[in-house]
Amino acid sequence: MVNKIKYQCGACDTVTLHDPSKRHIPFGWCNRNIEGTVYLLCDSCGIDGPNASDVSPILCEKFASKGVFFDGCKRWGIEPK
Ligand SMILES: [Zn+2]
Repeated sequence: MVNKIKYQCGACDTVTLHDPSKRHIPFGWCNRNIEGTVYLLCDSCGIDGPNASDVSPILCEKFASKGVFFDGCKRWGIEPK
């Protein structure tokens, strides 16, 4: 029996099915702490790794489209309107 759980990317909403008994999160995904909040990121959004110090402009835009803004995004000109 396969026991797969739905995992959703915190930035782009990509959903994947994964069996957590094999690995705690899907391969290539990561849990990244961004300014105090931990987000599960897919293999595309989490490409900078869990310990990257800067939030990339691409990631900022993905979060901004969901209404989530970080201080680290201001340097890219991405901030709440
Ligand atoms: Zn993603």
